[in-house]
Amino acid sequence: MKLLPAATATCLFALLASGASGAVSTGSPFYGDPPDQTHPWAIHDQNRPQPKRVEPGTFSTPAQPGQPPSDAIVLFDGTAPSLARWEADTKDGEPSASSKWVVNEGAMECVPKSGYIRTKEKFADCQLHVEWAAPKNVKGDSQGRGNSGIFLMGLLEVQVLDNYDNPTYADGFAASVYGINPPLANALRPPGEFQIIDIIFRRPVYQNGQVLDPGYVTVFCNGVLMQDHTPIEGPGGHMKRSKSGQFPETGPLKLQDHGNPVRFRNIWYRPLPPRSVEGGTDGALSPAATTAKRKAIAASIRADAAARSGTAHLLRLAESLVYEKDPATSAKVDELATAYAASMKALPAAQHESKKGEIEGVLRAFRYLVKFEIEPANYAPKAVLEQIVKARGWEEKKK
Ligand code: MG
Repeated sequence: MKLLPAATATCLFALLASGASGAVSTGSPFYGDPPDQTHPWAIHDQNRPQPKRVEPGTFSTPAQPGQPPSDAIVLFDGTAPSLARWEADTKDGEPSASSKWVVNEGAMECVPKSGYIRTKEKFADCQLHVEWAAPKNVKGDSQGRGNSGIFLMGLLEVQVLDNYDNPTYADGFAASVYGINPPLANALRPPGEFQIIDIIFRRPVYQNGQVLDPGYVTVFCNGVLMQDHTPIEGPGGHMKRSKSGQFPETGPLKLQDHGNPVRFRNIWYRPLPPRSVEGGTDGALSPAATTAKRKAIAASIRADAAARSGTAHLLRLAESLVYEKDPATSAKVDELATAYAASMKALPAAQHESKKGEIEGVLRAFRYLVKFEIEPANYAPKAVLEQIVKARGWEEKKK
């Protein structure tokens, strides 16, 4: 982290602190590299929205489920009423029906041969948390021991299987993307104990039949990485090579009935924001999306500038040019900058000292605009302020 010179930062904070509306600057502009063709924000941009506050939960242990974070959507909290968020996985066109899975000691348990269970809610990109336990009473081997599955959007199976001491084909191992990619490790606890699964899922995104983003799945088991941003090659499946393709917009979360009484608890998810290919505005964007976003940021800063007066008005308006060199704003900034420089030049030399912080702050802004070719190299208001600074010997004193 690099800090601003204290005097400059204090001055600009004071200038920008009052009368804010729309975009809120939380510190000094004219600092890091400006926006470019694919990045709508400057480096260390103080207009960029603050991350939303999420109250963290607590971590689970095998003995005790943790608390979800504050913005999580809880799908199953261990109580019988929360099973009402789930239903039997009936076929398309069939009426909905209650699931026969049961709630026992804080967990929902698969009743073999009763069928898959699915959420009534449909969603897509998410951070998903699931905990599962294979039966303590070990029966069967390979794919027949403690088998269930976490079906993302009802399609892509992250395998649930008791592989604690049970070899099977690698692409069907616990935490595999079933039929596609084995997990990176076996970090399972013994059968009967809860395994803690965290998944980050991004569905494939297509446009006009062309893939914009294949989608990815990342999986942790008991805090150990299993799937590292594994590209999605279709839904996966048994015996057949999976083919990439479009997913629906949303789908339910399904849990598999594979004939074993596997137990689940503490199931929640957090929806993820859209990626830039879907119109999200974080990260690197397309040039067209960047231009549109920069235009919106500039408009917001101009609205904020309108609520300010004097030097604060000038600086905020000048700041908007960093995002969009709107001709009318550019002309207004030139007019205000020229007037400001003239008014400072007209001040008796003895009064410059009381304006030192302000003049240096405005000069810093003008230098930034020139450095990044938003204003010309021979920008007259900058030259006037530099003359004042030089005459007062301010920059020499700093050395
Ligand atoms: Mg399975």
